[in-house]
Amino acid sequence: MRRFALTLLAVALVVPAALAQPKPGVGPAFEEEKFGEAPAITDPKNPKKVVRPAGTVSAFTLINKSGAKVKILTLGGIVAEVVVPDKAGKWADVVCGFDDLKGYLESSPYFGCITGRVCNRIGAGQFNLGDKEYQVPTNNGKNSLHGGTVGFDKMLWRPTAALGPKGPTLTLTYTSADGEQGYPGELKCAVTYTWTDANELVIDYKATTSKPTVVNLTNHSYFNLAGHASGTILDHQLKLLADKYTPTDDTLLPTGKIEPVKGTPLDFTVATPIGKRIKDIKADPVGYDLNYVHGEKRTAEPRLVATVTEPKSGRTLEVLTVEPGVQFYSGNFLDGTAKGKGGAVYNQYQAFCLETQHFPNSPNVPAFPSITLKPGEEYQTTTTYKFGVTK
Ligand code: BGC
Repeated sequence: MRRFALTLLAVALVVPAALAQPKPGVGPAFEEEKFGEAPAITDPKNPKKVVRPAGTVSAFTLINKSGAKVKILTLGGIVAEVVVPDKAGKWADVVCGFDDLKGYLESSPYFGCITGRVCNRIGAGQFNLGDKEYQVPTNNGKNSLHGGTVGFDKMLWRPTAALGPKGPTLTLTYTSADGEQGYPGELKCAVTYTWTDANELVIDYKATTSKPTVVNLTNHSYFNLAGHASGTILDHQLKLLADKYTPTDDTLLPTGKIEPVKGTPLDFTVATPIGKRIKDIKADPVGYDLNYVHGEKRTAEPRLVATVTEPKSGRTLEVLTVEPGVQFYSGNFLDGTAKGKGGAVYNQYQAFCLETQHFPNSPNVPAFPSITLKPGEEYQTTTTYKFGVTK
């Protein structure tokens, strides 16, 4: 009954399907459209074993009072569009993505998705929990990246859209089976996106488990505040409120140390253009791909961890989170091969990510804040991406 009532409400508030330009006055609202059909993914070693069933992918567009909007897919919870104004009131879509499902299925470097069950790297894909040893897929050299070969980014999530007190919302739920990608415990996940009139994309994550497991969820949006197809992000000014980071080995896996950023090209405690010292980074490929340490544990309330300003458009992004870490990634591996929205070509350093998280490889570093979740506990985390303009 409740569902029926909500459906009626949704239908009443739906806006025309082809929403090319934001239209002030239509929001707060949401619209739903079909995005495509995803085929099943089977286990390469056992073609009878379905790892991800086939299903329809829907796109939900959340529109606020000003007409600013975000589009989210039920495939991987992908944030496929964020359309916000610049200081002159000119709109642009500021996240990388594809026009169709094919792009996301075949060539996406994790554009906009939920990454999990454990984001970033787990050394050799191995860890112990209690007295048991677990092996998860190694899909990034010798390590496991973003939950394995078929992580949460590739799953079809179940949607419920609504108009909440803070704006249109989309809740996506997914139950990850005990043993999926080698992780123990059935994990019931819910991720709620809220798009407020203040152009804040609030992402709330919740999960419970049937057995002790490890969980570290984030959003992997690639931003370019000048517009997703406008070239370099090296001129964006970044401020990261972190004075420490977790150094990595040559496979980008944290060594387990925590070191100060002071006196290094990694120091963004004062707003600095991303490109100013990028060539001084000793990494292959050259660029930022590091976890910044903002604290020792999750905080009770979200606090500001990063601010980015794009000088020409005046667009700004503030990141607020309860998480202790943020992966700052400067798009080092983008190589122009993926054909993006409207034919956009995304080359190296043409987008950046700020992935809020617990530290990579946590299950193997006892000194890092723990990502273990036990039955009876609730995993809860929240991150806000707030879009604005310079005054
Ligand atoms: C990782 C990068 C990786 C990118 C895309 C980031 O979170 O740190 O090394 O290339 O995601 O997968």
